[in-house]
Amino acid sequence: MKRITIAIDGFSSCGKSTVARALAARLGYSYVDSGAMYRAVTLYCLQHGIIKDGAFVEDEIVRALDHIHLTFQFNPASRSSDTFLNGENIEKQIRTLEVSTMVSPVSKIKEVRRRMVALQRSMGAHKGVVMDGRDIGTNVFPDAELKLFMTADIDVRVQRRVDELRAKGQPVSLDDVRQNLMMRDYEDSHRKENPLTQAPDAVVLDNSELSRDQQLDFVLKLMEEMKLEV
Ligand code: C5P
Repeated sequence: MKRITIAIDGFSSCGKSTVARALAARLGYSYVDSGAMYRAVTLYCLQHGIIKDGAFVEDEIVRALDHIHLTFQFNPASRSSDTFLNGENIEKQIRTLEVSTMVSPVSKIKEVRRRMVALQRSMGAHKGVVMDGRDIGTNVFPDAELKLFMTADIDVRVQRRVDELRAKGQPVSLDDVRQNLMMRDYEDSHRKENPLTQAPDAVVLDNSELSRDQQLDFVLKLMEEMKLEV
């Protein structure tokens, strides 16, 4: 069976990781959450006072990159990889609103992107990978055999993210989450380096009204139609 590369891009909190994880499990592929890498860099900078009161000096973040070692380990419970920062599992810490608030400005930095993209390419070098993010189909793997561009209604996305954060014990408000999603979508789509855009050969998946199973079916059917072996 020919193993392929599947690139999933799209707006914040529109269920990319849910589809990517299900697809990877179904195909026996690995799943790589590229957003977790940008979040990990942001967390390190918050922890080390490099980001203070919402501000930072770009050069200091670039210098910090030499002290950031990211690894990933499969977690059988969640059936996906946990992110480790210098040996510590930071999967929970990178999902807070504090990290979400600073991650877009950090991910705009050219050198941050250069390093993360190199890591992402090495993780997908042997194919058999589903990777989600903002620039996977346009920049990281422009030759990916299957590219999806995901979107969903903003109200649906806000509610999903609020439910997810509250389930993890974070008391967030609808307004704060809405503001964060809209801010990140704007910044991610308007930055100079590898902005979020739909690749010309990406297939749009709007999952506002689709269940998890329906989304997986949609992609598997699409692969069949595209004659990509499943
Ligand atoms: O996917 P997630 O919402 O966790 O991504 C967090 C942030 O990381 C995004 O809002 C974006 O700023 C950045 N990101 C990126 N390129 C990627 C993946 C994520 O710039 N490929």
